[in-house]
Amino acid sequence: MKNKELKILLSAPRGFCAGVERAIEIVEKSIKKYGAPVYVRHEIVHNKHVVDNLKSKGAVFVEELEEIEDKSRPVIFSAHGVPKQIPEDASNYEMTYVDATCPLVSKVHREAENLFKLGYHIILIGHKNHPEVIGTMGQLKKGSIDLIQNEEEAENYQIDNGKKIAYITQTTLSVDDTKEIIKVLKRKFPNLKEPMKEDICYATTNRQMAVKEIAKNCDMFFVIGSRNSSNSVRLVEVAKKSGCENAYLIHSESKIPFEEIENCRTIGISSGASAPEILVKNFINELKNNFSITIDEIEIIKENVVFKVPNKLN
Ligand code: SF4
Repeated sequence: MKNKELKILLSAPRGFCAGVERAIEIVEKSIKKYGAPVYVRHEIVHNKHVVDNLKSKGAVFVEELEEIEDKSRPVIFSAHGVPKQIPEDASNYEMTYVDATCPLVSKVHREAENLFKLGYHIILIGHKNHPEVIGTMGQLKKGSIDLIQNEEEAENYQIDNGKKIAYITQTTLSVDDTKEIIKVLKRKFPNLKEPMKEDICYATTNRQMAVKEIAKNCDMFFVIGSRNSSNSVRLVEVAKKSGCENAYLIHSESKIPFEEIENCRTIGISSGASAPEILVKNFINELKNNFSITIDEIEIIKENVVFKVPNKLN
């Protein structure tokens, strides 16, 4: 098998975004400042490798504040953002908290608040039950934001004719699918107000553009990332829609399909915004053990976005 030649098109940019880097740094710096344990509400970012690594350094992951027995310890809110009630609850418990919400998610939160103040009813395009969607909807009182997940829901959406409406979106959606949903909404509601600047973030957009560029030239495509990582799952969909039907997510329990890869000349690789580069390296090393590989990295844009951690941790 080792002699079989395999070309890898390595998609770039891929992997960690600025929001993920910042969230991980916040946990590490909090452990340094406050000592262990430091609690983290929800997976800081959706990646098992990252979570396990932080656990080994002294982070304890919980889903709700109520689970924290020793409330004298600090708690960190994940990069996905939290409903307004959560920091309030932490304050009521007299807990120290650090907010690792990505600044680009916070931007959407502020947008929602401003639109509400201006009298708009808000449509949020996103996926039900994703923590970011729960966090964004939780910025305003119940009933102020309606969730729309797809074109069909957009077609069926009804609202009083007289109401001013605006839309915002989850940051990690498929750029192309979202365009179609917005098209439907604009046809139905010509006065629909749009965000000043797109809510789908730069990292999601760039990773999808890069996959689109490569997928059509690949016999198989692999995205390294977790099953609950929205932007990783979207990358698999983008690869499929862009000409590579055989696109798969490689998560912590995946087995590499060597037999299928045996039939390929070229495969594509990318990774979600919460997947560390070491997982891409490990995957490529596994392939190296079985094939004679050449790697061609295709970089469609350079990223230089950096988000600072809160001052209190420096
Ligand atoms: S994917 Fe985008 S919104 Fe999410 S953490 Fe990264 S930069 Fe922020």
